[in-house]
Amino acid sequence: MAACSFNLPYYILCSGHGFQPTTVDQNTWNTWLPDCYFLIHCRLSVYSACIFMAFRVFELKPIMMIKKIVKKIIPKKHLLLLVEKCLFIKTFMFRMIYRGSRYSCSFCNHSFSRFLPSGFKLNVLKEKKIIGGGYRLNATCPYCSSSDRDRLVHLFLKEHKLLYRHMRLLHVAPERSLQKLFERKDIEYFSADLKSYFAEIKMDLKNIKYPANYFDAIICNHVLEHIVDDKKAMRELYRVLKPGGWAILQVPYSPVLKKTFEDSSISRPKERKMVFGQLSHVRIYGTDYINRLQSVGFQAKQENLDKNATKKFALNPNEMIFFCKK
Ligand SMILES: [Zn+2]
Repeated sequence: MAACSFNLPYYILCSGHGFQPTTVDQNTWNTWLPDCYFLIHCRLSVYSACIFMAFRVFELKPIMMIKKIVKKIIPKKHLLLLVEKCLFIKTFMFRMIYRGSRYSCSFCNHSFSRFLPSGFKLNVLKEKKIIGGGYRLNATCPYCSSSDRDRLVHLFLKEHKLLYRHMRLLHVAPERSLQKLFERKDIEYFSADLKSYFAEIKMDLKNIKYPANYFDAIICNHVLEHIVDDKKAMRELYRVLKPGGWAILQVPYSPVLKKTFEDSSISRPKERKMVFGQLSHVRIYGTDYINRLQSVGFQAKQENLDKNATKKFALNPNEMIFFCKK
């Protein structure tokens, strides 16, 4: 029998269910076989894309679960190696899906048509118009996973030339993308946290185990909203900062709340999520956050980046830097 014409849907159906088309002879089948394998691979790609889309629909929650499990069973050294290896596959996949130049990442310098979404879609976050929290459509870089919040701090550091040689820098609850930036020989770098996987020093912010006036700079982002006695933590941060030193102390906050809202009777994680917008948040800062920083001694102000940078690097246009000096 002569080779029959190529019937793509029929071919795909046969290739995936373990039987051959009955209208072709063996020779024809043999010539089709390599194509058949190719099509099976195509089908696997479609399945992968479906799984990926499912992750997107569920706001990356399954990915977070997998990350947590992997972190528990694989040693840190091996995990970092594995992540580096996997990066190649991940990069290839996202470059195909999000090909474009609309948004750029300040860390990895890659450009995409869009970034990945991040944050929760909770009523309280929408009602209080929380800046630095809540759902953002273009938040996470598909290549290096830096968040919009990380890029904001990175661009601010660059714009104001805040990093310099031989400085002593304390980085609390280290964001991996920023941490890579600071891990250089000419910076005396200290990463600290109570639990973080990437922190070298286990430390309670309410009891910082370093002498007064020790650090040239401090970066402590999205930490204070988790601490019940945040004033004590602020006082400690102020104590260990050198006179003339600077600190970036970002928190999510509500521009519609004049007074910070906190209620110590709300202590169950589910209640906190509903009322404060996250399982371990203990308050929603209002516009008086800057006064709280000033009350412990900081010269605190809000600083902005220019609008072009905000668009190009997919930042939240309303998010500003809480910049403090001693
Ligand atoms: Zn990136």
